Amino acid sequence: MTICGAIARALTAAATAATLLTGAALLAPPADAASTSAFDWPLHPRPRVVRAYDNPEHDWLPGHRGVDLEGAPDRAVLSAGTGVVAFAGTVAGKPVVSIDHPGGLRTTYEPVTARVTAGMRVGRGTVLGILEPGHPGCVAPVAACLHWGLRRDRKYLNPLGLVRVAPVRLEPVRTPGG
Ligand SMILES: [Zn+2]
Repeated sequence: MTICGAIARALTAAATAATLLTGAALLAPPADAASTSAFDWPLHPRPRVVRAYDNPEHDWLPGHRGVDLEGAPDRAVLSAGTGVVAFAGTVAGKPVVSIDHPGGLRTTYEPVTARVTAGMRVGRGTVLGILEPGHPGCVAPVAACLHWGLRRDRKYLNPLGLVRVAPVRLEPVRTPGG
């Protein structure tokens, strides 16, 4: 009985630790990225998020591995940060651009007809291409959606972590008479 109880407690502790690790892994990379290089929204003016990020627990489950940003057909799509074009072309009939950034981060943009080619260096705000309509799940009255994705290695992350508003800077503490 005691041994069973101990095992059960150990398993619960392990599960909790795993949950905490997963949570930390999801939150940490964008914060790291934001501190090492500056990222910005890929559409200007700042777009509305019309479909949220939904990364399922397992790779084979349906989800939404990115966010959909409200745009318009023919709108310029901008690189979120400095990097190198990793891919510009079509995947399964969809026009896609992806950018490799320092720190192992890769952002993807679709459906976007590329104005850049693989291997090109881009800065934050460089025009990558032109937004096309027709992203699945993007419904009227929104005319076109930019699907914006983020990965570190093979792990999908929420790209909104890249453009999170910086924390309020605290004033230095002043001691009376100091
Ligand atoms: Zn999408």
